Amino acid sequence: MNDLYERWKRTVEMLELEGIIKSKEVKEAFLKYPRYLFVEERYKKYAHIDEPLPIPAGQTVSAPHMVAIMLEIAKLKPGMNVLEVGTGSGWNAALISYLVKRDVYTIERIPELVEFAKRNLERAGVKNVHVILGDGSKGFPPKAPYDVIIVTAGAPKIPDPLVEQLKPGGKLIIPVGSYHLWQELLEVIKKKSGDIEIKSHGGVAFVPLIGEHGWKE
Ligand code: SAM
Repeated sequence: MNDLYERWKRTVEMLELEGIIKSKEVKEAFLKYPRYLFVEERYKKYAHIDEPLPIPAGQTVSAPHMVAIMLEIAKLKPGMNVLEVGTGSGWNAALISYLVKRDVYTIERIPELVEFAKRNLERAGVKNVHVILGDGSKGFPPKAPYDVIIVTAGAPKIPDPLVEQLKPGGKLIIPVGSYHLWQELLEVIKKKSGDIEIKSHGGVAFVPLIGEHGWKE
């Protein structure tokens, strides 16, 4: 375990040196919840490597740099209401919960992963993440409006319900593009005036967002 933590600490320091982890809060979150707590036993020794890793049901937990980039764009502060779409392993939700210090809602379409994430979160001692089974391309209206919605799967276009469920001044972070190979990481800001501003943060590669406002199965 110690060896895993030492290797993880070096990864975090490398991401900081590279300027990918910028804030002390994101660094603290990464050190509090190492990625090896959210993968199966056989992958733990690879969890410090800056690449995606397999999780059950043919899905992936994103590379550490990708998660750090999205969290730095999100600029999460204590008290913010956040929805994550695409729970996967539960790792990103745990990091979000550390940053907002309140209940976090995360939605996953594959029942096996809902159970996987719940087990990981429990073992990591995370108590304020609520994992919901459902189609996150429709958002999660019961807890809307959100300050930030982070989507960790690639969509063919920006799903309207997610923009609707943002507070004025809120932001949606979402990869938009092709089915598997390439998407553009978008930051969609819902201005207080109601106008939408879209910033691009470059090319990324995520598994597809499958659902009513995503790709069809
Ligand atoms: N954030 C995750 C983590 O920390 O491990 C990694 C997410 S993985 C790259 C993308 C996840 O999105 C997969 O688990 C996939 O099943 C899920 N997904 C795809 N479409 C979805 C949808 N419409 N609603 C909810 N989850 C969805």
